[in-house]
Amino acid sequence: MSPEELALFPFLAEASEYISSQEVTLEDLVTGRAFRIARSRGDERVMNSFFKEKTQESDEETDDRNEEEIPTFGSEGEVLSEILSYPYARILVSCLNEPAFTRRYALTEAKKASFILKRISNTDIDFLLDFGKDFGIEASENNGQVQIYFSDYIRYSLSMKDISWKLVNRHIDHGYITIRRDEFIRLMQEAIRKRIESSLPIPEIPDNIREACAAQVEELKAKYEEQRQNLGDADLGEVDFTMFPPCINKALANVREGVNLAHSMRFAMVSFLLNAGLPVDEVVNVFNISPDFSEEKTRYQVEHIANNQYKTPSCATMQTYGNCFGKDNMCSKIRHPLGYYSALKFLAAKRREEEEKYGKDEEAGKAETKTESIEAEKSI
Ligand code: SF4
Repeated sequence: MSPEELALFPFLAEASEYISSQEVTLEDLVTGRAFRIARSRGDERVMNSFFKEKTQESDEETDDRNEEEIPTFGSEGEVLSEILSYPYARILVSCLNEPAFTRRYALTEAKKASFILKRISNTDIDFLLDFGKDFGIEASENNGQVQIYFSDYIRYSLSMKDISWKLVNRHIDHGYITIRRDEFIRLMQEAIRKRIESSLPIPEIPDNIREACAAQVEELKAKYEEQRQNLGDADLGEVDFTMFPPCINKALANVREGVNLAHSMRFAMVSFLLNAGLPVDEVVNVFNISPDFSEEKTRYQVEHIANNQYKTPSCATMQTYGNCFGKDNMCSKIRHPLGYYSALKFLAAKRREEEEKYGKDEEAGKAETKTESIEAEKSI
């Protein structure tokens, strides 16, 4: 591959060889003036992967943008900076060392690569076949499609939930399966995600490297914490339906009454329930009320949202789409439906802690039912 191509796919083994050939040390990368651009691009890689609010709509926009644009580089220096931005981003993600963040970062890199692969492979299938070799896949062309050995297919399709990926739904000829190009790219996306995720965090980063990156990591940590609070990425513990925000309660009530939800509200409700910790099966079951309930179709949609780790839309987005119903006092203190939920859970946990510590006031204990106390917290 050319250095320009390696800059588009810096997680390939050949990209590591290219970096070694440039004799850039880790210390140079994190402190050298010559590598400021590489560090700034690395920062961007990490920030973009996590701090853009990731909704289904924004994901689709990203798809479109990437369909049009493959990054181009004006000089050898730009190419090298782009390639080096990847190891720098890996250092930042490793120093932060948050499993959820690492998973999201790996998924974002894999998706970005798959958009570019899709664009290139429209005209150059050989590029795609070569690309597979880096992941140990010997693929060949078969009438414009891609033929791969069944064990390679299984290796990367196992985590795909859609039933079309099940081996029983594929035709095997002498151990080989023929799949469409876009399916092969999807397998490549999974291969990239697994490679990046399983190689993070980098073990034993030297202290001087950690120290040199400390400021960026601190900034990342602070933003991550803020996001956990605002976008509900905090560990929410057991799911408690009594603490859901009014908009989600309204959507759940509509589903129970057989009212069809607008696509945007359906997406918001499903992503909320998944992010709140409800398993896929239970989210599917929420819809198992309407007479035209199709488990297969609903499961496909729910799993798509779960597999892509879509974020629940913020309150501002909910308002834009006309999905903000029944605002209460708590709503004025948060910016995200999951923020509402985690704030109530936090207050309830704090109350329980205080009760355990000081003993519950008997009179208040008699009067205050759980519902009353939640209502009180909502109006704080
Ligand atoms: S303000 Fe936010 S949490 Fe409250 S109802 Fe509207 S969208 Fe839901």
